[in-house]
Amino acid sequence: MTAAEKRESDGAVARLQDIRQRMARAAADAGRAPGAVTLVCVSKTFGAEAIRPVIAAGERVFGENRVQEAIAKWPALRAETPGLELHLIGPLQSNKAREAVQFFDVIETVDREKIAMALSKEIALLDQARDAGAKPESTFPHPARRAPKLYVQVNTGAEPQKAGILPEQADDFIGFCRDDLNLDISGLMCIPPFDEQAAPHFALLNKIAARNAINILSMGMSSDFEIAIELGATHVRIGSAIFGGR
Ligand SMILES: *Cc1c(COP(=O)(O)O)cnc(C)c1O
Repeated sequence: MTAAEKRESDGAVARLQDIRQRMARAAADAGRAPGAVTLVCVSKTFGAEAIRPVIAAGERVFGENRVQEAIAKWPALRAETPGLELHLIGPLQSNKAREAVQFFDVIETVDREKIAMALSKEIALLDQARDAGAKPESTFPHPARRAPKLYVQVNTGAEPQKAGILPEQADDFIGFCRDDLNLDISGLMCIPPFDEQAAPHFALLNKIAARNAINILSMGMSSDFEIAIELGATHVRIGSAIFGGR
């Protein structure tokens, strides 16, 4: 490691420790258990050398927003450290559904019928391969394993340029995924509009989750994770506050 890399690495670990403390304080202030909130370290655009110190500091859950970038970066890191959990947090195209299902542990961006149908098909194929005794190494690019957990992304601000199902369509869409496609939807995710208070968006996501018996809420980023924790986040996705600016 060069001196500059060492400084970067020390910086990331110091920032991580600060985030952990702030998460614990926010959980305590909300009367929630210290372990109630999982940190998803968002490592998009950062290379393995920037990620390793964060893994060495004990983090195991990471978020990436591009399938190809993740596939280029993570196989080596996974080989070094068992038990990593990778979340896809960026928009998914149906022609990448197979790779995403084979590679990620959690897909947080299920947001339309077409992608839900593609995921359903690929998860069925993965299950079949495993049931037929596929050798782990026969499944590209990650060992044959459980299908990923799925979260539905809700466009709480109804922003035209943003991915996610509209709030008023969320119940029907979750029902479609569960009943018509047999998909196990375990969580909801949202990204509030940049120029608005985040709290009402987090509260709305919480409400949609409650009425659909969903208990995972992925909400809150570097600038608003404490309020998300106050409003029930079980997963906060934090990038720049750990790794630095992109
Ligand atoms: C980049 C990104 C994050 C992390 O954002 P920061 O502001 O850097 O913490 C969280 N969620 C999603 C979906 C992202 O794309």
